[in-house]
Amino acid sequence: MNKKTILMCPGPSEVHPEVLLAMAKPLVSHVDPSFFALLDQLQGQLKTIFQTENTCMLLPGTGTSGMEASLINFLDPGDKVLVGVIGHFGDRIRMIAERIGCNVKVVSAPEGKALNPEDVEISIKGFSPKLFACVHAETSTGVLQPLEDIMNICKKYEVLTLVDTVASLGGVNVPVDDLGIDIVYSGSQKCLGCPPGVAPISFSPRAERILESLAPRNYYLDLRLIRKYWLERAYHHTPPVSLFYACNKGFDLIIEEGLINRFERHRKVGLALQKGLEAMGFKLVAEKNVQNPVVTAVYLPAEIEDIKLRKILLEEFGIEIALGIAQLKGKIARFGTMAESARPQNVLYLLSALENILKRYGLFKEGGTDVASSML
Ligand SMILES: *Cc1c(COP(=O)(O)O)cnc(C)c1O
Repeated sequence: MNKKTILMCPGPSEVHPEVLLAMAKPLVSHVDPSFFALLDQLQGQLKTIFQTENTCMLLPGTGTSGMEASLINFLDPGDKVLVGVIGHFGDRIRMIAERIGCNVKVVSAPEGKALNPEDVEISIKGFSPKLFACVHAETSTGVLQPLEDIMNICKKYEVLTLVDTVASLGGVNVPVDDLGIDIVYSGSQKCLGCPPGVAPISFSPRAERILESLAPRNYYLDLRLIRKYWLERAYHHTPPVSLFYACNKGFDLIIEEGLINRFERHRKVGLALQKGLEAMGFKLVAEKNVQNPVVTAVYLPAEIEDIKLRKILLEEFGIEIALGIAQLKGKIARFGTMAESARPQNVLYLLSALENILKRYGLFKEGGTDVASSML
């Protein structure tokens, strides 16, 4: 099979060949001693990557399975939940909490902005929620939500915290224990640089106590039963063995690179892309001070139809990007610089392709590749 595209969308991202190769290893059963040893290794790797001492596991399914598991295992119908919504994925959390039958209140921010900690505090004071949930990297806008102040407010009012790190873990610092996050999940295919299909999850002793106190209302993503498999080897479901091999290798590569080096690589590459795009006249959706390095969203000039842009990039340049979703549908383009996609040559290639396209529309003013290459 010939590789035809470069993934510059916010997931899935490019996967290191060694990670792909790991999946070609022969299968063992989910009760093979070597597989149990792999589970122990994965837990250790996840603790390093989440920067936590809390329980860590991998769930079957993509990021959304982590989202659903994080809500359904810790909430009962009627529970008060405050959701920070700054885009599409925060809204997905709201929707799941509502489907559980929770009493849901939303605190939001204008397009391109992060939540204001004062607004969160006012909502917590007035509503007294059991749980506060928000998204760290809101992929629909490119906003990176600062967490420290908000998590401190939750601590002050003893509110349980849940953070979606699907688009940040492995690319941006997520110090779970320092921040005091109780429940956190991610997805394998974004900054973790693995194929899609697995959702890392971690939860604190406080969250575990809640887990024990509730009557289970779900089965496949029941964290009690999955934890029993990970810790006591009691069969619950057959995990995706090959994907676990891939994660083991992918997590190894992350730890080998070093978290700090990896965050710096993503920061540098993302910033170069953003400066390049701005030099070319694109306006970023996210406010400067909360711009995520790994997801960049830009407004498109009225002359350029988003679907056409995506088609040209894909068919002529072999670059896959993403477009707007929800309220931003039709208005923006989104670029991911995650995991193996976060490489200087990808950014320069994407920028020069965009320059070429702008020229066709007569919209070319200034190049962005020079600006970006001077920063890489
Ligand atoms: C991608 C993403 C999800 C959903 O993950 P899937 O793997 O598509 O299920 C959830 N939250 C955020 C912030 C995301 O970027």
